Amino acid sequence: MITQRTVERILDTAQIEDIVSDFVTLRKRGANLLGLCPFHTEKTPSFTVSPSKNLFKCFGCGRGGDSVKFLREHEGFSYPEALRYLAAKYQIEIEETQEQRKDDPEEQLKDQLFVLNQYTRDFFAQQLFESEDGRQLGLSYFKERGFREAILKKFDLGFAPIGGTTLTNQAVQDGFRPDILQKAGLSTSQHRDFFRERVMFTIHGLSGKPVAFAGRLLGKTVKGPKYINSPETPIYHKSNVLYGLYFARQSIRKEDNCYLVEGYTDVLSLVQGGIENVVASSGTALTPEQIRLIKRFTSNLTILYDGDAAGINAAMRGLDLVLEQDMNVKVVLLPDGSDPDSYLGELGPEAFQTFLKENSRDFILFKTSQLLQASKDDPVARTEVIKEVVRSIARVPDPIKRGEYTKVCAQVLQVDESMLVAETNRMVSADMAKDRKDKARQELRENREPDQQVTGSPSIPEAPRRLPTQEMDLVRVMITGGDKLIQVGEETTTVANYLLSNLEEEVIQEFNSPLLRAVMEMASAQLRSDAPLTPQFFLQSDREDIRDLAIGFLSPDYQYSDNWEERYQIVLHTQRMPDDNFARDAQLALQRFQLHRLDQMCSVNAQRIKEAYDTGDEPLYLHYLKFQQELQALRNSIADQDLNTVILK
Ligand SMILES: [Zn+2]
Repeated sequence: MITQRTVERILDTAQIEDIVSDFVTLRKRGANLLGLCPFHTEKTPSFTVSPSKNLFKCFGCGRGGDSVKFLREHEGFSYPEALRYLAAKYQIEIEETQEQRKDDPEEQLKDQLFVLNQYTRDFFAQQLFESEDGRQLGLSYFKERGFREAILKKFDLGFAPIGGTTLTNQAVQDGFRPDILQKAGLSTSQHRDFFRERVMFTIHGLSGKPVAFAGRLLGKTVKGPKYINSPETPIYHKSNVLYGLYFARQSIRKEDNCYLVEGYTDVLSLVQGGIENVVASSGTALTPEQIRLIKRFTSNLTILYDGDAAGINAAMRGLDLVLEQDMNVKVVLLPDGSDPDSYLGELGPEAFQTFLKENSRDFILFKTSQLLQASKDDPVARTEVIKEVVRSIARVPDPIKRGEYTKVCAQVLQVDESMLVAETNRMVSADMAKDRKDKARQELRENREPDQQVTGSPSIPEAPRRLPTQEMDLVRVMITGGDKLIQVGEETTTVANYLLSNLEEEVIQEFNSPLLRAVMEMASAQLRSDAPLTPQFFLQSDREDIRDLAIGFLSPDYQYSDNWEERYQIVLHTQRMPDDNFARDAQLALQRFQLHRLDQMCSVNAQRIKEAYDTGDEPLYLHYLKFQQELQALRNSIADQDLNTVILK
């Protein structure tokens, strides 16, 4: 386990803006930085990074937290993994104890998969450069294609041996469990290697960690598809990854453009030829997630097509998705029969770059002329072309851009512009109606209990279970201001001490929410050991739910968002409080809690009075009646308390 001292050093050193900007392009906005949220789809940025608070917060989807939280949500790291990443970035030495951390099994699995993938990446590389088969088959394949050793090493290329069990046996011998090898997709259920006699491409996540592998068959002894990929695992979701993006992102940002190619080797060739802003969608059609990934770094996408007409038409259809994301899409068509790899080799890097610049064309115009050419003079086919073009234009969210496209395309298609406008508008409103319907359907699905999904009939969702407001309020004050000094009568004390000295141990034990009870117990223990009760103390808790709770309370400018209510299922009555009002806030929270508690006791006791009366047990009836009066007196005295007795120091 990483020592608390190291954790503190890491969290003190890590600057949220450094961490986030490795993944998201941020722009300065006042004291904060603003960017497009990596966690939800948005067109105008609401993802805010506050350097002074060292926290991030999205006002769109409500996600927020510190550097560790960002890495965990974004990269799927476990808590220790995120700490290690930060430590490496800031060159902080990690102190560790032998004690094992009690992580949840899912986290542990992710950690194990990352470690195993790192091991495997090194194993494949070693096979490529050092084994005889690797050198003869793998290395010679890469060398024939003109790849230099530097690029092979940079992109972590490797070789999967022919044997069939080499990796599996070696990994097990080195202490990896067979079931983890299977879960990573590296071994089959028969304990054989999944990748055999293939040159291997390491697929990196945005943080540079190996998340998966792809292998290209060399086809001497093994049969099978030319390319195979790791299966989906807890750390690898195909639709969320673009090959090469980890290496390309700085250059994409600098050039404000991203080249998209089809194959892994196309990426390698272009990078080797000096074009670094290039990614591949690795065999699958471009997904909306991948488009959003690119959009974080640029709004300009240039797609390189191999010069084969049949492929182009199929590929173009998927691109309407890109238009929807409000990206500027350009297309470069390579001469018939060549791919980026071969054409770059033919022209040489400089001429190739010039070729790209001179031949990139706007996607919609390209599509229009492409279709027009195919339809020639066939009037029926022409109508189809118009519809197809309109479909693309309708996808463009910006009405001004849409207008420009309509104008130009009308000219190219030689049709009346007003006809094209009418057709586009019809399509846009049809799309909008469909979106609304989809959204309604989605909401219905989300509100339904899982076991009701099959019946298909909508049901009224149950009210969500809510955390008790008064308990929540106490905990909020404890976390945000526990260490603040306040004046109570003659005495100066901390907010935490004030709250805890007014709450008996058994009252805390009666807290309805186990989470909130745990926070109070933690605070109480910390206070007894005379340690300071800073917000950091809660932010660094080894319980994730407590860290999340603290992050929610401490997020920049956003103490009480709607989303926050949803997340913790509470209703907030209080408004945002000024930072300097801890004394009053503490007293109000305590008072509300006590009043609520007394109200509850009163209603329980009222039931007892009724029961005693019904059964005719007069002594008991009088006893409860008297108790009720005492409760009410106490309640009134608390309600009447002068809130100004606590003065801010
Ligand atoms: Zn968001």
